[in-house]
Amino acid sequence: RVKTLGRNSFQFFDPEMQSSAQERLEVEKGLHQALNNHEFELWFQPQVNSADQILGAEVLLRWRHPDKGIILPGCFIHIAEESGQIVEIGNWVLLQALQQLAAWREQGLPESFKRLAINISPLQFMQVDFVDRVLEMLDQTGIPGLQIELEITENMLLNNFEIASNKMKLLKQRGISFAIDDFGTGYSSLRYLHYLPLDILKIDRSFVTGLRPSSELAAIVEVIIATADRLNLTVIAEGVETLNERSALMELGCNCFQGYLFSKPLDAKQFYQKLCASVESQLSELNNS
Ligand code: C2E
Ligand code: MG
Ligand code: MG
Ligand code: MG
Repeated sequence: RVKTLGRNSFQFFDPEMQSSAQERLEVEKGLHQALNNHEFELWFQPQVNSADQILGAEVLLRWRHPDKGIILPGCFIHIAEESGQIVEIGNWVLLQALQQLAAWREQGLPESFKRLAINISPLQFMQVDFVDRVLEMLDQTGIPGLQIELEITENMLLNNFEIASNKMKLLKQRGISFAIDDFGTGYSSLRYLHYLPLDILKIDRSFVTGLRPSSELAAIVEVIIATADRLNLTVIAEGVETLNERSALMELGCNCFQGYLFSKPLDAKQFYQKLCASVESQLSELNNS
């Protein structure tokens, strides 16, 4: 199959590339059916501040396969990206996320809730009609752009600073914010941080796992946070699993977190319940103090 990502994104050592051609074909067929048979679901992982308030959630795709059960994106996103199916799947994710948010807005959202963060694949972002599609979906669902954050990755920016930055500017005019995902793990230089109108920097889990104050890892994270501060970017740490990691991050000046310590990804109903419950417990704490 023809590569759709451009020559620079070819990776020989991507472990995910080791699945056989046969397996890939099966996944591709399965993905096609998944869309038609409504086998995709959105899950939501809370993002919290240092006062444990839920600021929003990252939208994470799940494939509920009729025989295999829940399949994680690590098993199929890269295949969908190469086959081009990610465009259709990604547009489905966007619309579904906006519709879910519209439903929650009707039921009532707490004031602490800021945004839903949605992952955008390189191929999806590079479609010529990407900006129009997103704006159309905002209109269709009545969601203010301010409640939407799009997560993009460093690798998608390799050759496309100018196109990427133009698209981002158009979407930012409608209030949408942009996060750089998995920061520090891609192939790009740091130069893009200066060129692109970013709002949020997500520190990759690989910098967070086992983080201890005054360690070498902490020195790197400290530089990342200082850089983000100077560029007026909000920092959020991914994959926070322990209280020690959380306190090391706080010591370094990071005050937004996402990870199993706070919550695993939840289905829509569970997430909304957790959101409401967390507001109630904050309120009763206030009343008791
Ligand atoms: P990501 O955007 O970096 O998302 C974070 C991943 O880390 C999620 O995996 C999440 O479940 C996992 N995670 C969160 N907290 C922890 C933690 O404390 N410990 C550990 N070990 N893991 C944690 P998930 O849901 O399997 O998604 C994997 C990747 O698939 C995502 O990484 C993202 O790149 C991609 N993805 C997910 N949904 C979509 C989507 O709708 N569109 C696109 N294009 N990509 C998606
Ligand atoms: Mg992400
Ligand atoms: Mg990430
Ligand atoms: Mg990650």
